[in-house]
Amino acid sequence: MSRPACSLRSFLRASSARSFPRNVRTLATPSSSKTSFSQTLAEGPALDDFIAGNVSDRVVLGNTTGPRLPSYLKTSIPKGASFSKIKSDLRGLGLHTVCEEARCPNIGDCWGGKEGATPEEGRRAATATIMLMGDTCTRGCRFCSVKTSRAPPPLDPHEPENTAEAISRWGLGYIVLTSVDRDDLSDGGAHHFAETIMKIKQKAPQILVEALTGDFAGSLAQVSVVAKSGLDVYAHNVETVEALTPFVRDRRATFRQSLSVLEHAKKEGVRITKTSIMLGVGENEEQVMDALRELRNIDVDVVTFGQYMRPTKRHMKVDRYVTPTEFDRWKHVAEDMGFLYVARLDAKPSDLQAGEYFIENVLRGKATERRTTQLANGEALDDKLSSIS
Ligand code: SF4
Repeated sequence: MSRPACSLRSFLRASSARSFPRNVRTLATPSSSKTSFSQTLAEGPALDDFIAGNVSDRVVLGNTTGPRLPSYLKTSIPKGASFSKIKSDLRGLGLHTVCEEARCPNIGDCWGGKEGATPEEGRRAATATIMLMGDTCTRGCRFCSVKTSRAPPPLDPHEPENTAEAISRWGLGYIVLTSVDRDDLSDGGAHHFAETIMKIKQKAPQILVEALTGDFAGSLAQVSVVAKSGLDVYAHNVETVEALTPFVRDRRATFRQSLSVLEHAKKEGVRITKTSIMLGVGENEEQVMDALRELRNIDVDVVTFGQYMRPTKRHMKVDRYVTPTEFDRWKHVAEDMGFLYVARLDAKPSDLQAGEYFIENVLRGKATERRTTQLANGEALDDKLSSIS
């Protein structure tokens, strides 16, 4: 029988006489039991106790059934002159960034530049990942919050020119271009991607370009189109270990297909290939080791590890939050295997910018200082650097 509303006063009185043995009281509804929630509420302190300050319990709000976000992964609200300038430049030019579309929590770090820096200094220090071919993807990966449609709007034929113009005016040293997957286009958008890179290199040859592409549905001919466009780094993300790929990525994406993209790009003469693995989606250590071996076998140069961050409640749950110690361990493992490795704690932190800076130095042949530091981790890395410098 439910408690009538008019008995609130007697309920408060009765509740105030109870003792409160629990240290933590949960206000979120546990998915398993509504009864236990009602019971917990009934047994908890009453309004009188809160007014009198007699409550020592700690109240926990939100979802208490999943892992809680650790403090080292919390980020601040984006601000700063550099952040605002990049945002307004992008709006004015009608460009999209993956930073915004994917609701990346580290947008403030990447766009914010340095504290107290001039707008020019801020731009140089900032990293923005430009998303080509619109904001709507033909795929639906379970971790990604980009909009999905079978038939996204047609390509903007002016986008390569506009993007190249905007990027050349910004004065950035290193730019990442990426795109949604466009399975609706006969070439997957490879020529549009390549045209953008060629125009950037025409207008500002000093800018290093990293292209983070999809898998072009396994078409190696389309991979060649992008790989031969004059880019500096070819990136394609395997995202997770092979066993979890069908549960994490869109069904049309496979781990083997992604390996073939990276392998082919290298065969086409790209100097640096790069991939990324999200941790915290349910993978185990052995699976990560297997993935690293596979990537090393096809001569991938850079691997970054990220923490999976659930963008909305409609996306797959975080299995666990990886500790900084574990990230460090993977960093050493990857370095010992011969990767030019970039440690990365979450989706897009300042560590990643350091990685881009490092790659920039390697490509410009100025990696001596960092090379000396990393040499302590083994001769394999030195061999790797020599072969791509
Ligand atoms: S392919 Fe997957 S990860 Fe990439 S934009 Fe589309 S839905 Fe997102």
